[in-house]
Amino acid sequence: MKEDGQQPVGAREDTIAAISTSMGEAGIGIVRMSGPDAFFITEKLFEPVDHRSYEPSLNRRLRYGWITDGQKRVDEVLVSFMKGPHTYTAEDITEINAHGGRVSVSRILALALASGARMAEPGEFTRRAFLNGRIDLTQAEAVIDIIDADTEQAQQQAVDQLSGVLSRSLGSLRHELLDLLSQMEYAINFQEDAQEDLPLDPMLQDGDHILDSMRQLLKESKNGRLIREGVATAIVGKPNVGKSSLLNAFLDQERAIVTDIPGTTRDAIEESYQLGGMALRLIDTAGIRETSDVVESIGVDISRQHLENADLVLILLDGSADYSEEDEQLLRQASQKTSIVLLNKEDLPLNLSMKKAKKRWMERTPSMPWVSISAKEGTGLSDLKETILSMLFEEQPKENVAVLSNIRHIDLLKKAERSLFSGLEALRLGMTLDAAEVDFRDAYAKLCEITGQSIGDDVLDTIFSRFCVGK
Ligand code: GDP
Repeated sequence: MKEDGQQPVGAREDTIAAISTSMGEAGIGIVRMSGPDAFFITEKLFEPVDHRSYEPSLNRRLRYGWITDGQKRVDEVLVSFMKGPHTYTAEDITEINAHGGRVSVSRILALALASGARMAEPGEFTRRAFLNGRIDLTQAEAVIDIIDADTEQAQQQAVDQLSGVLSRSLGSLRHELLDLLSQMEYAINFQEDAQEDLPLDPMLQDGDHILDSMRQLLKESKNGRLIREGVATAIVGKPNVGKSSLLNAFLDQERAIVTDIPGTTRDAIEESYQLGGMALRLIDTAGIRETSDVVESIGVDISRQHLENADLVLILLDGSADYSEEDEQLLRQASQKTSIVLLNKEDLPLNLSMKKAKKRWMERTPSMPWVSISAKEGTGLSDLKETILSMLFEEQPKENVAVLSNIRHIDLLKKAERSLFSGLEALRLGMTLDAAEVDFRDAYAKLCEITGQSIGDDVLDTIFSRFCVGK
C-alpha cells in the first residue's frame, strides 16, 4: 500500500519579497526574495562592482556592489544568488545584505516590489519550504519555536525538531501502521476468496507495538511541552501569607526577570524565571481577596482558573499563623494537581495547628511535598527549587530523541492512539476486519496530519500566521 495524501507540490508562480531581519538599529538588514523571478528582479536593482551577470559559477557566492534606483545609489550591499532547489524555500532565492536601520531595507524592498515582486505574507518563505516538500510541517513549526524560544533548552528542542528527529520517529510509526493496514487489506481479500480466516495474532502484535510507541511518545511529551511553553506556576494562598514576597524572593535572588507579561489577567502578575534551563511562568494571584465583593468574586474565579490551568501549584501557608478552614480548602483543591505546600515565615515560631496540619496532610497525601521557607529572609528557596525540578522532571530530558512539545501534535497523537486502541479492541472482541479497519485508517490519518501529509489550508493559515513576515 502506498502512502496517500502526499504533500501538495504546486508551482508557485509569483516571487515574494520581505525584510527578513528585525527593523531597527543594527549593523545589517536583509531583504530576501524567493520565486522564479528572484534573480531577474535582483539583477534589475543590483550593480555588482565586477559588472558580471549571474552565471552558475556565481551560485551562493556573496557579491559586492550597489543597489541603485536609476542613477541614484540606494545602498552599498552584499548580495547572494542561490539557485533552487537546494535553498530554504526550494526555489530561487536572493538575499540582499544592506545596512541596518529602517530606511535602507525599506527602500530596497520598495524597489523590489516595484520591479515585480509581491510582499510576502507572514511565514510564507517557510510555508513554501513546506509546500515544496523540503521540510514537513513539524519542521516548519520548529522554525517559529526556535525564534520564540526563551530558554536554551526550548531552543535546543526546537532545533532537534527542525533537524528531523521527530519527523523520523513519526515517519516510522506511519510506515508501521501502513504495513498493518496492508496486512488487513490482504486478510480481507483473502477471506473473501478462501472463505476462511487468517490468524489475527501477528496483526494484534504489530498493532500493540505501534500503540506502545505512541504511548511512549505521549508520556515524554509532558516534558516537551513544559520546556517549549514554560511551566505555568500558580502561587496561591490567603492574603498576607507572603505570595508577593515569594515572587520577589525568586526574582531578586537571581536577578532573573526575563519578561514582564502585561495584561494576563486583571489581578494576576506573571513573571518568568529560569530554572534548570526551563522557564517557570510564576503567576502571583496576590490581592484578589482584598477587593470589594463583586470584584472579589471575579478575583476568586480568576484564582480558581489559574489553579486549574497551572502545571504546578505553589500553595503558601503562613506557618506562624493558625491553620484555617480556608487553608484546608485550598489544600484540598490543590492536592488534585501537581502541588507543593510552602510553609512560609520559618523565621518565626511555627504555629502548633500548622504543625499538626502538616503531619496530617503528609500522611494522607504523601505525594504532595511540604517545604519550609522564609520568603522574607530568602531561606529554603534552594530546597524549593530542587523539589520543583524533581517533581516536574522525574527523568532528565534525553538528548536527540523525538520529543513532542507542540499541543497540536500532542492532541493529534492522542487521537491516533485512541483510534488505534479502539481498533485493536474491536479485533479482540471479534469484530470483522472491515469494521475495525475504519479505526486503523483514522489513526493513520491523524499521524499524517501531524507532519502535514494531509492538511487543510485553514490549519496551515493558522500555523503560519504566527510567523513574522520575512521568515
Ligand atoms: P501576600 O498578600 O500573600 O502577597 O503577602 P505579602 O508578600 O504582601 O506579605 C505580607 C506580609 O508578610 C508582609 O508584611 C511581609 O513582609 C510579611 N512576610 C512575608 N514573608 C515573610 C517571611 O518569610 N517572614 C516574615 N517574618 N514575614 C514575612
